[in-house]
Amino acid sequence: MDQIIAKTIVSEYKSNHEWFGAHYNMNIYKGCNHGCIYCDSRSDCYQVEEFDRVRSKANALTLIERDLKSKRKTGVIGTGSMSDPYNPFEKELVLTRGALALIHRYGFGVSIFTKSDLVVRDAELLKEISKHSPVLIGITITTANDVLCKRLEQNVAVSSLRFKAIQNLNDQGLYAGIIMMPTLPFIEDTPDNIRSIVRLAHEHRAKFIYTMPYFGVTLRTNQRDWFYQKLDLLFPGMKEKYMSTFGDSYSCTSPNSKHLWEVFTKECEKYGIVYRMKDIIQGYQKGYGFDQLSLFDVY
Ligand code: SF4
Repeated sequence: MDQIIAKTIVSEYKSNHEWFGAHYNMNIYKGCNHGCIYCDSRSDCYQVEEFDRVRSKANALTLIERDLKSKRKTGVIGTGSMSDPYNPFEKELVLTRGALALIHRYGFGVSIFTKSDLVVRDAELLKEISKHSPVLIGITITTANDVLCKRLEQNVAVSSLRFKAIQNLNDQGLYAGIIMMPTLPFIEDTPDNIRSIVRLAHEHRAKFIYTMPYFGVTLRTNQRDWFYQKLDLLFPGMKEKYMSTFGDSYSCTSPNSKHLWEVFTKECEKYGIVYRMKDIIQGYQKGYGFDQLSLFDVY
């Protein structure tokens, strides 16, 4: 695997209203080869050339250790926003695992976002971190159907394996749940799909499910071209439907979004699964003595 030079890896968020209450962000890898047809991280604005080629950051663990030592305050480090920390190379490279060991040593918490069940490998280490700091694991699941999942997210564990990973982590006392985004209009935006995901979440003891009320996908330059190429291959005629419905809009909202949100919230409430960002943050950060976040404008 190629390596790239990075000056820093752990950077501070500008406000504490960021994604799942994380205070810092970290990406150890650049690019991702999981092959999701809707991937936002390949958009032009992020300037990741050859996105499907995974590269690691040279001296990643040395840099992370230096970054952690230099922080004035501990906090939660989010990872997985621009590339999956559990890509297939992680099995051998163990860089994410090494970063977790440092996060533990320096007294930070972590919020991990992934589509891979490889995260279960690090459960013991995550449990050690949770003895002193908050730990959240968010596993993305967009469809309850493994066949459809394999078409949409080709190179990573199918949904049923991700549900099992969530159960495994929760059974070990960790705080693991589902990121249910995006919901592809005309492909995944059915009440049946939403109901099935929430039911399976309940059966696998997911602590939370997070999605946006608009139920859709965002499409930007470059990402849209890739997505449309894949639609032509996998769902003939679907690209034309997107073009006539959404034009060049950034936000492609499901025509069913209002109904889907009603179905989603009703099902979550039926099973007692939290779904609001502020409840999820409180759920995993409560009791650790962190500065209370201002959650008034966090949904
Ligand atoms: S796992 Fe995430 S970063 Fe990787 S291809 Fe899929 S959406 Fe993109």
